[in-house]
Amino acid sequence: MPNTEILFKSTTNCSIDTIIEPLMEYQGVELAILREDLINAEISGNKFRKLKYNLLEAEKQQKDTLLTYGGAFSNHIAATAKAGAQCGFKTIGVIRGEELGGDLNKTLKQNKTLGFAYNCGMHFKFVTRTAYRDKDSSYFKEELKADYGEFYDIPEGGTNDLAVKGCEEILNATTARFDYIASAIGTGGTIAGIINGSLPHQKVIGFPALKGDFLDNEIKKYTQKQNWELIKDYNFGGYAKFNLELISFINNFKVNHKIQLDPIYTGKMMYGLIDLISNSYFSKNTRILAIHTGGLQGIAGINNRLQKAGKPTIK
Ligand SMILES: *Cc1c(COP(=O)(O)O)cnc(C)c1O
Repeated sequence: MPNTEILFKSTTNCSIDTIIEPLMEYQGVELAILREDLINAEISGNKFRKLKYNLLEAEKQQKDTLLTYGGAFSNHIAATAKAGAQCGFKTIGVIRGEELGGDLNKTLKQNKTLGFAYNCGMHFKFVTRTAYRDKDSSYFKEELKADYGEFYDIPEGGTNDLAVKGCEEILNATTARFDYIASAIGTGGTIAGIINGSLPHQKVIGFPALKGDFLDNEIKKYTQKQNWELIKDYNFGGYAKFNLELISFINNFKVNHKIQLDPIYTGKMMYGLIDLISNSYFSKNTRILAIHTGGLQGIAGINNRLQKAGKPTIK
């Protein structure tokens, strides 16, 4: 039977690094970054937080299989595969893109995310984009049950009540002195947990990595609090979209601060934060904490894309 104990005893304390730049001094603000990316070597940042109570629940329900959903470069797929393997769960990934299943060996060679998940023991079900869109239908669930029997079902991106509960543990006593908490947003689960875990004097600001106005309502499903705001100006055109300015920002940030960001989530957040600071968005003496939610495994896939297009890559 699966056992989650080892995994959740293994978390390291995430440090808080101060970002030292003339800009911060000039604007009179403090910017620091909570290194949630360091929480576990291979189960990254917020995906670790989101899986914690779900894996405990799967164990309690005596399920031996985890099933979840994602795109071909999904941080959540990689994290679920690794966490499942460490705890002794079988894992099944329902992957968007039927064509990826045609020549599995080739896919595994070309796609580091899927190659990693496969090596962790994940079994894949590749589905068409149409089928993927209907993945929450009872028809699709019945089909999965017929194929795989009983499983513990984790939604795409990992967001549910238990995921939000896990993300409530991101903030703690050492983060209490900050006035603003900033996070990247995909489905909204992570920021909902951060909002729930925030203190009354703190304001949580979210940087959506994608376009769309549905996020406010998604977040309200998981939190009653109102000390938060979404800043929608830094999605760079949508999910997994970016430009060379963002790539060069990420490369410069790494040179200057020795911290790796990714172009899907944390790079957009940090670009936005620094732009806001430059434009005097924050008043003097404001202390800002950015959450590094991890997600670095996706960089290889992005670099593939950039290389093929003959463009500069993430260093
Ligand atoms: C998945 C992910 C997010 C978004 O988390 P949500 O809970 O879906 O909003 C943010 N940052 C990174 C690095 C991620 O992998």
